[in-house]
Amino acid sequence: MSYVDEIYERVVEQNPGEKEFHQAVKEVLDSLRLVIEANEEKYRKAALLERLVEPERIISFRVPWVDDAGNVQVNKGYRVQFNSAIGPYKGGLRLHPSVNQSILKFLGFEQVFKNSLTGLPIGGGKGGSNFDPKGKSDREVMAFCQSFMTELSKYIGADQDVPAGDIGVGGREIGYMYGQYKRLTGLYEGVLTGKGLTYGGSLARTQATGYGLVYILDEMLKHNGKELAGKTVVISGSGNVAIYATEKAQQLGAKVVALSDSNGYIYDKEGIKLDVVKQIKEVRRGRIKEYADEVAGAVYTEGKGIWTVPCDIALPCATQNELNLEDAKTLKSNGCFVVAEGANMPSTREATDFFLESGMLFMPGKAANAGGVATSALEMSQNSQRLSWSFEEVDAKLKDIMVNIYAKAADAAERYGVPGNYVAGANIAGFEKVAEAMMAQGIV
Ligand code: NDP
Repeated sequence: MSYVDEIYERVVEQNPGEKEFHQAVKEVLDSLRLVIEANEEKYRKAALLERLVEPERIISFRVPWVDDAGNVQVNKGYRVQFNSAIGPYKGGLRLHPSVNQSILKFLGFEQVFKNSLTGLPIGGGKGGSNFDPKGKSDREVMAFCQSFMTELSKYIGADQDVPAGDIGVGGREIGYMYGQYKRLTGLYEGVLTGKGLTYGGSLARTQATGYGLVYILDEMLKHNGKELAGKTVVISGSGNVAIYATEKAQQLGAKVVALSDSNGYIYDKEGIKLDVVKQIKEVRRGRIKEYADEVAGAVYTEGKGIWTVPCDIALPCATQNELNLEDAKTLKSNGCFVVAEGANMPSTREATDFFLESGMLFMPGKAANAGGVATSALEMSQNSQRLSWSFEEVDAKLKDIMVNIYAKAADAAERYGVPGNYVAGANIAGFEKVAEAMMAQGIV
């Protein structure tokens, strides 16, 4: 049996029930097959793949807190420190009822390659809790965040592990966690990114994932003789990534006609009015449905049907496995020719294969949403320097990084004989740097 298949079987056997983790490992290993086969003896001897698929450490802990009714609540907290070969662990914290070890391991594993692709010195990690911030008061969110950080603070640090936001973790949650870290340790250091601008945050971090997604999309379109201006775009989600992807796509002349949340989607044939969405989501923390109450002509549909809306370009920006084979076929038959993933692993494996086989342009999340973590790394640099760069400076660096990620993914795909396959290209380019660093550092 090939080394790759052997390792995949081992992962399934040793991590029973972790289906999202199995899915992420399979996708990466399948596209690394050629690289691994070319170096099989060397990698086998160093048990490189065995080490690559095993997190360096998983910390799991209880998070007790008291709700507004005076009841004690207990959630599960985690940090997966996956791989530190090229830098301190870096990756978001997710607060969502679906969070479990499998989801965080898949996200941490993906993060290793994504962070490598950015060209910056950051290893991969991910963490979070099954706590649901939706419907909680500010005081309850603070109580949870303080309890979560009380335990997590023992394992993180500016040169050790630097978490950031993800689903359910925005500026408010990062603020509460940072305050608690500082109180416990007495350190004013860049231990979290996505901080507020008054206490060490970076300009353009809020926009970075969405903007970066559109920068790499634009680059991919240009290299394939197409352009973004004038295209119709459908974006799922209406959180941080979706909002700023909409903003940048609109700035570059595209028309975004649909957004969603976990209850349903809105369609506005005149083009989404982003100020209304920001008011609903960033200020009121409301539901996307409210858009249709406020904007004449907009239609709200309950349920998951956003991929039935005809478009040229689809940007899934909500969550994992939100776009399946049937959705992929519907998109294609409605004329969609480009998919770029703002979320992590939003397309199922079957959908991804369909995009690649049917000749659509497809940019996987690992490359397409790397702008967020890249700008987090820029926030770390500013914290270390005790300086703040201007919005334009950070945005220009972000754009450069996204253009470089495109070039790396396209080049690796060419080198291994699969031109235009950015899934393989991104995995290979991300892997090469991590593998070389792991080999150089010996058996650790
Ligand atoms: P937010 O919490 O800001 O927004 C998430 C959005 O997705 C919301 O509209 C939410 O709807 C929707 N959503 C979440 N879960 C589901 C679900 N199970 N079904 C349908 N819709 C769902 O998160 P972000 O925008 O930060 O993250 C979105 C994706 O992008 C995630 O995959 C994340 O890992 C990825 N990402 C984020 C980065 C960042 O910098 N923020 C960086 C790189 C990747 P509702 O409000 O109803 O829950």
